[in-house]
Amino acid sequence: MNEQELSRRLARVGSHVPQDARLADIGSDHAYLPVALMLKNKITFAVAGEVVRGPFQSAEKQVRKSGLTDRIVVRLADGLEAIEVNDEINAITIAGMGGTLIRSILESGKNNGRMNGTERLILQPNIGEKTLREWLAQNDYAIIEEEILEENKKTYEIIVAEKQKPTTYTEQELFFGPKLLEEKNEVFFQKWQRELTAKERVLSQLEKAEEKPLEKVEEIKMQLAWIKEVLA
Ligand code: SAM
Repeated sequence: MNEQELSRRLARVGSHVPQDARLADIGSDHAYLPVALMLKNKITFAVAGEVVRGPFQSAEKQVRKSGLTDRIVVRLADGLEAIEVNDEINAITIAGMGGTLIRSILESGKNNGRMNGTERLILQPNIGEKTLREWLAQNDYAIIEEEILEENKKTYEIIVAEKQKPTTYTEQELFFGPKLLEEKNEVFFQKWQRELTAKERVLSQLEKAEEKPLEKVEEIKMQLAWIKEVLA
């Protein structure tokens, strides 16, 4: 992967960024995503935010090498603290982190006034999709698009959300993804087939335990029922 040729995962994340967007890419590492989108004239301005000095310096170097220092600003900052009001950001990408971390970045950003609610959020959690969807639903975001894809034998989900009139989601929609559940493509089936096997194994271990964690057992049983229903 480089700034010219993104991984399939990042390319798909980038495909959900609106044309001519002013983008904040949070956790930008080498700034591959904003640089690639700028080179394709997909965005007009970007902030590449990084909290760790090493990746921040890699991002700075990449932006300089690409001759884009006037249109991509690299900032060493925690989460959405990288965004300033004058940036007029209207799309935020947060990719390659756990759903819980992405959720806490969004929560802090909301509380610190770093988002005004008009931004499109393009999120790619590596795990913990449900907790992220719950945050979106609790904060009046509608999930407008979702994708599930496989790369290097790993499965990734992309969640695109915008603040719209409040949408309510069922527990199953939050668990599987409302759009993914509608589409149920091949990668989705494969993921949930694997999850079924893994959860059945966990359940059988828990049931052998001397002191059964009853709540956890019930939760897994319920999820197994949902998964079987979806795969049927
Ligand atoms: N977004 C890139 C991608 O999807 O390929 C890089 C993903 S990398 C696994 C995660 C990056 O997020 C790391 O460079 C890490 O330092 C950064 N990161 C983690 N927590 C962060 C935070 N609170 N604010 C900004 N960056 C953060």
